[in-house]
Amino acid sequence: MPVNAVIIVAAGRGERMGDNISAGPKQYRSLGRNSVLQETIGKFAAHPDVDQVQVVIHRDDAALYQESVHPHPKLLEPVTGGPSRQQSCRLGLEALASKINVSKVLIHDAARPFVSSETISAVLDAIESGKCALPCHPIVESVKRVSPQGLVEKTVDRDGLFIAQTPQGFRYSEISAAHQHARDNNIDNLPDDAAVAEFSGMKVEAVEVSRDNMKITTKDDLELARSKLSAENNVLYSDVRTGNGYDIHRLGPGDAVILCGVQIPHTGKLLGHSDADVGLHALTDAILATIGAGDIGSHFPPTDPKWKGAASEQFLAHALKLVDDRGGRLNHLDVTLICELPKIGPHREAMRARIAAICDLDVSRISVKATTNEAIGAVGRHEGIAALATATVLFS
Ligand code: MG
Repeated sequence: MPVNAVIIVAAGRGERMGDNISAGPKQYRSLGRNSVLQETIGKFAAHPDVDQVQVVIHRDDAALYQESVHPHPKLLEPVTGGPSRQQSCRLGLEALASKINVSKVLIHDAARPFVSSETISAVLDAIESGKCALPCHPIVESVKRVSPQGLVEKTVDRDGLFIAQTPQGFRYSEISAAHQHARDNNIDNLPDDAAVAEFSGMKVEAVEVSRDNMKITTKDDLELARSKLSAENNVLYSDVRTGNGYDIHRLGPGDAVILCGVQIPHTGKLLGHSDADVGLHALTDAILATIGAGDIGSHFPPTDPKWKGAASEQFLAHALKLVDDRGGRLNHLDVTLICELPKIGPHREAMRARIAAICDLDVSRISVKATTNEAIGAVGRHEGIAALATATVLFS
């Protein structure tokens, strides 16, 4: 089956950055959490109609690439580019053909990390109708032609002038042939792939998209991109709330306990109206606390026969729904189980995975810890198992 791929061109040296060259090319600079390149890759990897991501890098940047890019199932091994952008794109196209059968191909600048899902979709749709697609936006400022001496020579009529963006989109076979045609004619420095298509006499459709797809070229652009991302990531979620929860259940006769959604063979079972999962009960209380919505007992009264033997997952899911209804976004969960036995270590990852599945939260944001009670008190005498939990929720 032919697939849709994107080539991300990251082979440039960023000469226009104008600052400390040793800091590396702009596509590897940090935007906060991630490098510019990683942010860009993430946009395409997350798009449902993009199947493969091929990055073209400079031959000196293999180590930088490894350091600043996370593995992803859609991401192919990087290939080495050439001395010009045009040659790097051609090498990327050739590398793709050696690995997969490509139907539509997008070609994108690594230095445009703000490309939206809507822009990617609009370009893919335009290729669907049989054309090469150039995403662009109209120029709204007045445009001047300026002499090398810095004098304005002419005010240019901006009517019909557009700023070209990427990703530019093509049928793979057509853009591949166009690149070969340019090469055969010793043309190797065209500014973008739409220009390569144009050189071959192909029709290119201008697809008007949002102008919010800036290219990071200068140091000022990098600063602007950082503050833009930080605004998206932090300021929108400046209301951070934490809640805590505690629970304890008695142990009685039985052969297994359920802790954090995982059944573990044991010399007893936890007694309670529901499945008595202290871990999920403590987490549920911690989550309810972030919206001041009382405790688990007020939502699921132990006197209500409906909850007899109930799986505690539904309590957790209910608390999360209440948080969601109030516009909260779960950010982190931490639970500590307190018991002499069973040993929690061998089940820790299964518990994290179970909580991750119930909460639809990445497992890296879930902590499960355990401690004994040093043989002190009721828990120390194996009379019960206790749990503490902390939830962190972000509100916009
Ligand atoms: Mg309980």
